[in-house]
Amino acid sequence: MPRILIVEDEDSILMALEDDLSLEGYAVTGETDGARGLERAQKGGYDLIILDVMLPGMDGFEICKQLRGAGDTTPILMLTAKSQEVDKVLGLELGADDYVTKPFSPREVLARVKALLRRGKPANPPLERVSFGDVEVDFKGYEVRKAGVQVELTAKEFTLLRLLVSHPGEVLRRDTILNEVWGDDWDVFPRTVDTHVANLRRKLEDDPADPKYIVNVRGVGYKFVADGP
Ligand code: CA
Repeated sequence: MPRILIVEDEDSILMALEDDLSLEGYAVTGETDGARGLERAQKGGYDLIILDVMLPGMDGFEICKQLRGAGDTTPILMLTAKSQEVDKVLGLELGADDYVTKPFSPREVLARVKALLRRGKPANPPLERVSFGDVEVDFKGYEVRKAGVQVELTAKEFTLLRLLVSHPGEVLRRDTILNEVWGDDWDVFPRTVDTHVANLRRKLEDDPADPKYIVNVRGVGYKFVADGP
């Protein structure tokens, strides 16, 4: 269960966020004081930190700066007030990953939280090896073998494979895959994902026409099934 630390001094906002995120299955810790928030964050163990800007004790920018200065890479979502346009930019320059402007809807925060947690996953810890069926993948050495025989993958196929196997059993939407693998390259289309999946299946599945590991979820996207059939 992902753990989230929220540092916010407005009780109503803190309670609403705690409720919404707990309902989504996150383990939430709330803190209303900036200095105590930093202490908690420094103890570590959180998958995401939500930071208000204006806080008693220490402001959100300072907390962010200190965490990043100490090499802490935990995703940080800043909560900013509407008039703080400059603050937003500053927050991101200090190493925050994203921000939402008050007043925000719970759905908006939830969407950002999910995106940040997803983005954070492959970074810590990096996936080094995975095997399924007779396929062995060495992500560090960029090597793939099927039944002991080396398989050549393109860089994009490799990145796509890494993304899929990093989320076993989880359906990844085509647009999510596009964002993660192709980033801001707008020359690509959802069909590109299908083409690359087809290539991976041809190279890795026993029967590419009846795939066991990289499964199509009709109308949504793809999922990796670690144990196969
Ligand atoms: Ca505040």
